[in-house]
Amino acid sequence: MSYDDNNIFAKILREEIPCNKIYEDKFILSFYDINPQKKIHALVIPKGKYTDLDDFSLNASPEEMVGLLKGINIVAKKLGISTEVGMGYRALANISEDGGQEVPHLHFHLFGGEKVGKMVE
Ligand code: AMP
Repeated sequence: MSYDDNNIFAKILREEIPCNKIYEDKFILSFYDINPQKKIHALVIPKGKYTDLDDFSLNASPEEMVGLLKGINIVAKKLGISTEVGMGYRALANISEDGGQEVPHLHFHLFGGEKVGKMVE
């Protein structure tokens, strides 16, 4: 699937619509999900134009890959849910239609702040 420049996260990255920002650096933007499914529900997105994790794995640079993975840890730390403070969380990426992906810009959901329960309900 080619990247759709009009998807909602592309608009957030271009600051055409607002977000409740948690963290930003050269590689990622993180903000709270508008419809939280757990006590803490954050999103972490790469700044590059990648539709999903497969697209990212195939086409992102090593720097972008490191930036995204490190970014998830930075955000978890900021939210107080990382293992470094004795907590934990779920990082989850839905991939394409069969994976339940609705917004076609790669994003990781971070769920935490409570026991997040079974992986698939
Ligand atoms: P997915 O189903 O994995 O594509 O998840 C898309 C997520 O984006 C959902 O959890 C939505 O609640 C969230 N979402 C959609 N629009 C916004 C927005 N404007 N700001 C923050 N989160 C959003």
